[in-house]
Amino acid sequence: MSRPACYDLGMFIDRARIMVFAGKGGDGKVAFRRAKGMPKGGPNGGDGGKGGDVILRVDEGLNTLVDFRGIYEWKAQEGEGGGKKQCTGGDGDDLVIRVPAGTVVYNEETGEELADLGPGDSMVIAKGGRGGFGNEHFKNAVNQTPRKATPGEPGEVIPLQLELKVIAEVGLVGLPNAGKSTFLKSMTRADPKIADYPFTTLSPQLGIATLDGARRLVIADIPGLIEGASSGAGLGHDFLRHIERTKVIVHVLDVEPDNGLSAAKNYRAIRAELRGYSSELAEKPELIALNKMDLMTDEDQKDAMDAMRTELQLDAATEIYPISGATGVGCAALLEAVYRMLHRDRVESGW
Ligand code: GDP
Ligand code: MG
Repeated sequence: MSRPACYDLGMFIDRARIMVFAGKGGDGKVAFRRAKGMPKGGPNGGDGGKGGDVILRVDEGLNTLVDFRGIYEWKAQEGEGGGKKQCTGGDGDDLVIRVPAGTVVYNEETGEELADLGPGDSMVIAKGGRGGFGNEHFKNAVNQTPRKATPGEPGEVIPLQLELKVIAEVGLVGLPNAGKSTFLKSMTRADPKIADYPFTTLSPQLGIATLDGARRLVIADIPGLIEGASSGAGLGHDFLRHIERTKVIVHVLDVEPDNGLSAAKNYRAIRAELRGYSSELAEKPELIALNKMDLMTDEDQKDAMDAMRTELQLDAATEIYPISGATGVGCAALLEAVYRMLHRDRVESGW
């Protein structure tokens, strides 16, 4: 196979533009004590409360910025105005925005990098305004009845550009024509940012599969790996990055391979390639998907699975997932199993 001269793999970047508004501080109050026979007592207008901050907090359960699509303005609460009788207004609630680890935050206007957020990080990205002073604050020996109070300070308003270097957590491996691309395409929402990327034949294609709600999987089809990559040098850094960070491998097998060999034999061939390429990769947890089941009757499917089981001497605990990337049958069950495998540690620790 001839290789392109340059592995121009670039970064897979997921981007979002948002505007964050920290809360304005509450205004100070002008008020005077009122009591019988004392028409105008001393000043007692309270201070305004502080406006809420906008906070970016890393949530390790997130892996994309898709939640930001369509929501541009993110506002923290304003501080409450000061009250009579020296009552200070309540502080506005902070707004906590959850972002995935690996999110780099820029001021969109100035281009300045404000943060590069890793696991466990949390930062105030826009500060709420201080509350204004009530008139009680301005009382002094000269002026016993000040009519002055100050307004709350405005909160910071900052246009942000968020960038996430998307890293695949699931890698698809298999021979050419096993059906990896078809599976990826049918299971994942093509991300426009990702789809726009000029892929070379040796770059991993990424897709984001949504199981439901917030449960998502970032999946990479790693076509270049098997097509000679294990014996060659020079794969791009980003390509390797995806492979190294992949936590689960889905091994896609054609149930009736076009090379005339059995699915089990092809499985062994790919496993050998994987080991040759990287023992670290070869040792990652793996699920086996027997693909193109739509071409078979139910009975033949069962026979094919049994034959594979016998030939590979799989233990009872190792499942084979019958799927059809073309029709989607079996794919949801496979993705659920992948998700469980990926989040096993979290579930066990009550995450
Ligand atoms: P890849 O090389 O592993 O990415 O394989 P592709 O996704 O390009 O698929 C290779 C061929 O198999 C194409 O002609 C697909 O239309 C076909 N194919 C892929 N998945 C299925 C499937 O589930 N059922 C059937 N009948 N054909 C499939
Ligand atoms: Mg392909």
